[in-house]
Amino acid sequence: MNLSNSRSAFQEAQKYIPGGVNSPVRAFKSVGGSPVFFQKAEGAILTDIDNHQYIDYVGSWGPMILGHNHPKIVEAIQQQTKNAISFGAPTEIETKIAKLIVENLPHVDLLRMVNSGTEATMSAIRLARGYTKKEKIIKFEGCYHGHADSFLIKAGSGGLTLNVADSLGVTKQNTQNTLIAQYNNIESVKECFKSHKNEIAAIIIEPIAGNMGVIPAEFNFLQELRKLCNENGSILIFDEVMTGFRIGFAGATDHYKVVPDLITFGKVIGGGLPVGAYGGKKEIMSCIAPLGGVYQAGTLSGNPISMTAGLTTLQILHEDKTIYSQLEENTKYLVENLYEIFKEKKLPVVINTIGSMFSIFFTSEKVVGNYHQAINTDKKIYSDFFHFLLKHGIYIAPSPFESFFISIMHDKKILDKTLEVCNQF
Ligand code: PLP
Repeated sequence: MNLSNSRSAFQEAQKYIPGGVNSPVRAFKSVGGSPVFFQKAEGAILTDIDNHQYIDYVGSWGPMILGHNHPKIVEAIQQQTKNAISFGAPTEIETKIAKLIVENLPHVDLLRMVNSGTEATMSAIRLARGYTKKEKIIKFEGCYHGHADSFLIKAGSGGLTLNVADSLGVTKQNTQNTLIAQYNNIESVKECFKSHKNEIAAIIIEPIAGNMGVIPAEFNFLQELRKLCNENGSILIFDEVMTGFRIGFAGATDHYKVVPDLITFGKVIGGGLPVGAYGGKKEIMSCIAPLGGVYQAGTLSGNPISMTAGLTTLQILHEDKTIYSQLEENTKYLVENLYEIFKEKKLPVVINTIGSMFSIFFTSEKVVGNYHQAINTDKKIYSDFFHFLLKHGIYIAPSPFESFFISIMHDKKILDKTLEVCNQF
């Protein structure tokens, strides 16, 4: 496969952009080689600048649940650009999207829009601290909550891929209030509460981890977290940036039936444009400025183009009740057949699957249920698999610690084509 245009585009990009990319995982450091540059996307298919086509399992890292260039979303954005691109003043579109979410997610009374998942989690933590008047937070090994300073400890995908657990430039002061516990290990959380009684403002967790590969929390683990937060006057934050509106309309929260105090969104909520949001109980959300003393703001927050893309996406997901079951069925079909293929090849794998997300771990272990098990899987086989698929027109995440994402445009024909290629690996 001739990727000469991508290679020279990467050379050129590196002259002006650090590492040639605007987000590190895109640089292929973990799998080796030179990143592919794209020019077009339609449905489940990407086209690179050398005019090769690929079946896409990255989906812009999650947002493209309806496939690329969904005609209704494109049309809604085009219409909105005729009215205005940005005001920095209130619009009714913002209320419409907030209303749709508040009316359908019983655990969200009020919602604040921001511009990324990072902003959402960072703001949620500030709010939890402001509300509880406590300073420490608990996060879990392998969970990623964006790149705010206090989260960059054992932070999953990007850090794992680049082999940096911590980032330079993060001060001790910034991390001394972040306690690290082990995913799916309640004793490690109890230990934090024991050694820091009355100091813990919040627990933040991906209820379905997606940043050490897909690892769903165990049901009773989340129930226990809820209990510990109640007992200790701490806030439970579910980071649903990846899982919100993807694992069903009401996300992982509805799947587990455990109610957090605050919840963060990103990815699908913006329909492919830069949007994040955080919401939750009225009493807590009322502490945000201008109602309360916790400050948080944004020049472009809730801007009409992003809100239009997000609103149209959520309306489609909300109105068509068959979407989530269809996504789940198609994902199951793909995963079951992948298991068969790897079994025949005597290549041991664990494929963690939930809704329309899954990760393939190359390992002889029976389960991959936490960070340590995830990082001990075979990264070399994943790299070989990645490059084999890329060569044969399938684009998966250039890191073993990410999810595959299925969209409604991944039909049987596309899935069968994927299986046919995997069978040749
Ligand atoms: N939280 C989770 C669970 C994520 O997966 C991500 C991004 O992948 C973030 C937060 C940060 O979101 P963003 O990249 O939009 O800042």
